[in-house]
Amino acid sequence: MSAQLPPPTASGNRLAVIAAHLSCPPLGSPAAMSGEKEAALAAEPTGTPTIFDKIIRKEIPSQVVYEDEKVLAFRDISPQAPTHIIIIVKVKDGLSRLSKAEERHVEILGSLLYAAKVVAKQEGLDDGFRIVINDGPKGSQSVYHLHLHLLGGRQMNWPPG
Ligand code: AMP
Repeated sequence: MSAQLPPPTASGNRLAVIAAHLSCPPLGSPAAMSGEKEAALAAEPTGTPTIFDKIIRKEIPSQVVYEDEKVLAFRDISPQAPTHIIIIVKVKDGLSRLSKAEERHVEILGSLLYAAKVVAKQEGLDDGFRIVINDGPKGSQSVYHLHLHLLGGRQMNWPPG
C-alpha cells in the first residue's frame, strides 16, 4: 500500500520558494533557471507577508544598495547577472503583482522605475541594463510583492527565456 502524502499547504509552498532561492547554482545555468521556475510555480499569491516584508522590516539580512521613503533596493540572493538588484515598494498597498495595479498606484510605479534609473547609475551601468517585472505564474513570479529586477554587467539576450 502506498503512503498518502498530505495535500500541499500555503506554508509548505512558501518553504519550497525559500528553499529554491537558498540554493545558488551557476548564473544562467539550466539548474538556476529550473529552480526559478519551480519557485514560481510553488508560489501562492496570498495576502500573507512575503520574504520582502521581512527584508523591509530588517528581520532578515539583505545587501541594501538604495533606500528612500518609498522604495528599497537590495542585491538579489540568486543573481542572474553580475549586477542583479531587486527594487521594491515599501508600502505594498495591494501591489502583490503588476496586474493588481490601479490608477492610484501611478505615482509609486513611476517612483519605482525612476529608482531603477538612479540605482543603475549608482552601479555604473552606463552601457545599458535591463528591467524585468515578472507577473503571475506564467511570468515566473515567485515573490508576491511588486518588484523590479535590475540586471546588468553582461550582454543581455533577446528573446528572454
Ligand atoms: P520573482 O521571481 O520575479 O518573483 O523574483 C523574486 C526574486 O527575489 C528572485 O530573483 C529571488 O532570487 C529573489 N529573492 C528571494 N529571496 C531573497 C532574499 N532573501 N534576498 C534577496 N533576494 C531574494
